[in-house]
Amino acid sequence: MDTLQQRMEKIEEEIQAACDRSGRNRQDVTVVAVTKEVSDKRTQEVIEIGITDIGENRPDGLLSKRESIPSDNLNWHFIGNVQSRRVRDIINEVDFLHSLDRLSIAKEIQKRADSPVDCFVQVNVSGEESKSGLQPDELEDFILQLAEYDKIRVVGLMTMAPFTQDEELIRKIFSSLRGLRDQLAAKEMDHAPCTLLSMGMSNDYPIAIEEGATHVRIGTALVGTESEGDE
Ligand SMILES: *Cc1c(COP(=O)(O)O)cnc(C)c1O
Repeated sequence: MDTLQQRMEKIEEEIQAACDRSGRNRQDVTVVAVTKEVSDKRTQEVIEIGITDIGENRPDGLLSKRESIPSDNLNWHFIGNVQSRRVRDIINEVDFLHSLDRLSIAKEIQKRADSPVDCFVQVNVSGEESKSGLQPDELEDFILQLAEYDKIRVVGLMTMAPFTQDEELIRKIFSSLRGLRDQLAAKEMDHAPCTLLSMGMSNDYPIAIEEGATHVRIGTALVGTESEGDE
């Protein structure tokens, strides 16, 4: 099995190739290492090979990693669905929230955050019932309403593609999110610059980069899963 370093090199090659194919700069793509399935130790190792952005999808996972890992130069991303009652536990511990999709969460952030939080609004582009996120036609109204919440800065949009081998379908979903982002960014709203795109996971990040992703959330392809053990 590949070492962490080898996996990272392979991912770097794929990212560079996707940037080359689409005429993008490598610096415009941030790798968020999703460490939800692995230990604090494994997370520390991934930081040692140069990862600066860590993603967790559960409050307890975020808080335990946050506590055990000294974090001077790290960005912490909360990428999962959050319940209103847990917002207070995490909101001052994260640099980015990727899953804002309802006003009840916005209200909690407004109440609990010490300073403005950079948020991605999650969109359910694929329309799958199992997925969270706003419907595309609800998006603009939702973001307009957020103007009243001075603790929220809408930095971009986030989506998850369906789990499928159908690359054209995946590409269509990412390019739709990009279209939505472009429309919102063009409005130049103070509270919602909306320039970033969080999309792409282990299976589909090269497609996401070709379609404009600025943040790819890579878990298993990089850190593996805990059951694979240490290498
Ligand atoms: C787990 C997760 C990821 C990473 O998934 P992989 O397929 O392991 O890369 C990305 N985004 C979200 C929202 C996740 O929950």
